[in-house]
Amino acid sequence: MSCDYIQLANPGVQKLHPYQAGKPVSELERELGISDIVKLASNENPLGLSDKVKQAIEKEFKDACRYPDANGHYLKSALAEKFSIETSQITLGNGSNDVLEMIARCFVLPHHEVIFSQHAFCVYPLVSQAIGAILVEVPAKEWGNDLDTMLKAITDKTKMIFVANPNNPTGTWLGEAPLKAFMQKVPKNIIVVMDEAYTEYVTDGSIPHTIDWLSEFENLVVTKTYSKAYGLASLRVGYAVSSEEICGLLNRLRQPFNVNSFALAAGIAALEDHAYLEKAIVVNQNGMEQIKASCKDLGLSFIPSAGNFLTVDYAQNAIPIYEKLLHKGVIVRSVANYQMPNHLRISIGLEFENQRYVDAIAQVL
Ligand SMILES: *Cc1c(COP(=O)(O)O)cnc(C)c1O
Repeated sequence: MSCDYIQLANPGVQKLHPYQAGKPVSELERELGISDIVKLASNENPLGLSDKVKQAIEKEFKDACRYPDANGHYLKSALAEKFSIETSQITLGNGSNDVLEMIARCFVLPHHEVIFSQHAFCVYPLVSQAIGAILVEVPAKEWGNDLDTMLKAITDKTKMIFVANPNNPTGTWLGEAPLKAFMQKVPKNIIVVMDEAYTEYVTDGSIPHTIDWLSEFENLVVTKTYSKAYGLASLRVGYAVSSEEICGLLNRLRQPFNVNSFALAAGIAALEDHAYLEKAIVVNQNGMEQIKASCKDLGLSFIPSAGNFLTVDYAQNAIPIYEKLLHKGVIVRSVANYQMPNHLRISIGLEFENQRYVDAIAQVL
């Protein structure tokens, strides 16, 4: 007799939908038989790997038959020095998605409530739903986190609150004063996860360094990634910074060897390569202006963004526009699954890549 394995799966898993990634270039090549494709769909760094990172990776090949350092000692030391913290406050992950999942699994049980914003990064409901937790999605305010309404959503079942600053896919951000006031009001038995995947792009002080707040807020966990401004998306390396106590808990359930030796070495080299990061920031600022100028020319509004992407309102169902852009070899991101059917998210690329989008969208509309 055959079995209904869907019914056998955990109830939370039964309700899950797989993560929808940006379309890979190779897939579009296969599907449409076109070449010369630009991908502006996954908020990747368009500069490619820096030479310093490449050299660091090459040095690791000779020992690739060995397990990596399970503690990531040297990378954690480099990060600890950068942020003036202890290595015992850092949890390394296979990308920051890995640490987001660890944090949820560490604290959240099926009867707990997890709060996050409408239009927030989809990994928060994904990791919470997998546990079977109760999802509490709070309506967004001007496309971003509405901290006051999030506070009002707290009940005695609330265990965790996710805040992305800046948020993906909207690019909205929160400054020091509202965030600090929020942290002061959240009860200490509720973990606040501050996802800072894009803060490196914000150099004007409009986003606070919340790692400096850890001594004040023991329930704060800050997550960061190498996938965006540092340009290591495929290597999968990110981390959480927290109190020693929470870090100790996360390390109990962290898979040993979750960060490979290439990623560990690349992470150290990337921290040292200040010129690369500075260039990434400038390329992003210039590209952002280029895409915004196209919006203005075409009379399109967009959500102001502190990230490396701009989410544009086409004032009509954007899926056909997305499809037409694909046929012109330009991959952007639909955000229909974020309850934003009229928007597309454009990752900022190199000048010529942005121009491909600018030219294509003018023809398509
Ligand atoms: C891209 C992104 C991440 C990073 O994911 P990685 O697993 O580190 O590649 C985390 N949070 C948000 C909001 C993001 O957009």
